Amino acid sequence: MNWEQILAGRMSRMKASEIRELLKLLDQPDIISFAGGIPDPKLFPAEAFRDAMTTALSDSQYATSLQYSVSEGYGPLRDWIADQMGLIGVPCTPDNILITSGSQQALDYLGKLMLSPGDTALVGWPTYLGALGAFNAYEPRFDRLDPGSNREAQDYHDAAAPGRVKFAYLSADFANPTGVTLDQAGRERLLDLAEELDIAIIEDAAYQTLRYDGTAIPPILATEIARKGSIDACRTIYSGSFSKTLAPGLRIGWVCAAASVIGRLVLMKQAADLHTSTLNQIATHIVARDHFADHIPSLRETYGRRRDLMLDALDREMPEGVTWTRPEGGMFVWLTLPDGTDGAELLARSLKTERIAFVPGHAFHPDGTGRNTIRLSFTLHEKELVDEGIARLGRLLRAS
Ligand code: PMP
Repeated sequence: MNWEQILAGRMSRMKASEIRELLKLLDQPDIISFAGGIPDPKLFPAEAFRDAMTTALSDSQYATSLQYSVSEGYGPLRDWIADQMGLIGVPCTPDNILITSGSQQALDYLGKLMLSPGDTALVGWPTYLGALGAFNAYEPRFDRLDPGSNREAQDYHDAAAPGRVKFAYLSADFANPTGVTLDQAGRERLLDLAEELDIAIIEDAAYQTLRYDGTAIPPILATEIARKGSIDACRTIYSGSFSKTLAPGLRIGWVCAAASVIGRLVLMKQAADLHTSTLNQIATHIVARDHFADHIPSLRETYGRRRDLMLDALDREMPEGVTWTRPEGGMFVWLTLPDGTDGAELLARSLKTERIAFVPGHAFHPDGTGRNTIRLSFTLHEKELVDEGIARLGRLLRAS
């Protein structure tokens, strides 16, 4: 069978990441890994989920927990999320909420909703690798979103021709991979730019709840509602997730947006997978309702401490010429290495010598630039391993 001749055009853009292949090699017990952007499994509320699953499978009020359910998502969970959105400055109703199978699914659906081949998606440079992967299937072009620059709207349009700019995608809080947060003035400028270009904004809020210090900045969607008066008049589409706060394995995320956008996404969900797991939605609702408020402060405390440990170790160990971000939340610190140092080469050398893992930064750049950058995750290790791992990184850099 010659598969090549029957594959869709989009498949030529969907390649296994060389980085993921390299990181597989690094998944060995003697390696200190700062690579995976994953929550610490020891912090999962496993007991709460065990009890919630038992309740969902035995209590008669949840008799439909193993049954098909509606594409919009489980009603009480949508109610709970709508209330939570209200607390962060986004007054809305359950009609503004769609439950997705992780926020990754939301990115896929949003690409499917808006991108025709050749259209342009504006993204941060660097940006979340999984967003580039999700959008890529719809054969777009990527252009650099930089709300801090003076670039004119007309220039974005010209660069996109003969296609059209469709949306700007970003994480405004503690972005993956940089850890950087967009300030209020930047959010206002982004909204101005989106108005001028007449495009949507996709606000990926995967890390928003994980703030360790500093003052919370209202979501871009909240800022837009303050301008327009109602979520149903807004162009910002917010995607949220329980992956970083409760557990990623259950695959529960949501979209919060104008009801007209939710209605179209519901059609997409019907066609793609009918609905997100009924049982997982019920269990997530029970755990969120009963435990979220207590669980989040303990996560913030642990991850905030680990962030400090990593920043302290970097202050001590990094040679001259290396700079890094100081995130107020999330999971990542982003390092810029001296010009000419290649993050991918450094990782390959690490495998033979110092045995630490990190993600080379060029993977997060749509054009493969950023070779002298790397991403470190601080969620998994306590002091001993952080100190040892960052000392090894210092030696690795001094030897390059
Ligand atoms: N957005 C960002 C910025 C992420 O880092 C991730 C996961 N690493 C996701 C979305 C997807 O998360 P999930 O599908 O588990 O909600």
